[in-house]
Amino acid sequence: MARYTGPSCRLCRREKTKLFLKGDRCLNGKCSIEHRSAAPGQHGASGSRAKEKEYGKQLREKQKAKRYYGLQESQFKSYFVEADRTEGVTGENLLILLERRFDNVVYRMGMAESRKEARQLVLHGHFRVNGKKATIPSMLLKAGDVITVREESRSSAKIKELIEGLDSRIAPKWLAVDKEAVKATLEALPKREDIDFPFEEQLIVELYSK
Ligand code: SF4
Repeated sequence: MARYTGPSCRLCRREKTKLFLKGDRCLNGKCSIEHRSAAPGQHGASGSRAKEKEYGKQLREKQKAKRYYGLQESQFKSYFVEADRTEGVTGENLLILLERRFDNVVYRMGMAESRKEARQLVLHGHFRVNGKKATIPSMLLKAGDVITVREESRSSAKIKELIEGLDSRIAPKWLAVDKEAVKATLEALPKREDIDFPFEEQLIVELYSK
């Protein structure tokens, strides 16, 4: 299935929640869901889904997580399969796998305004992992990995702007960001309680376990 290329805000309206897909715009009062919360489409405001059935809730939670991390269905499902065969709580395993994606870590360290932008920057080769050029957004990082910006990229206007903005960004506690060196180290793998978005991941597990 092709990657969604339509308006990001439409996805938030569909899920009836802020998914933070457009960087600063999501935080500065210009968020469209704050002004227009009905779901998109002609039936959006009809109230026909007033009483969502259990399947609908599970489906919406999966869509929400998939869109939050900017993934396609097949990719998302493969993370679930991996989470399910890993020891521990499947829903928590799933979210932790998603957080470990390279594009997500670049976003979390503050070197992109959105995961979508992080994916583009990674694909364009602006970062190194443990000293080696890394261009695969889906690469799973592990504790101890170090992300740096390539020297050659520091003259790019976009990269300069992001480096200057690092001071105003707050990284999660599992990620130690050295703003002077423009470097981030995964001090540990993220835990479920480190993921601040209010996912109900058990609903996703129930959906895929049918
Ligand atoms: Fe979603 Fe951000 Fe658009 Fe608000 S501004 S609807 S949070 S993408």
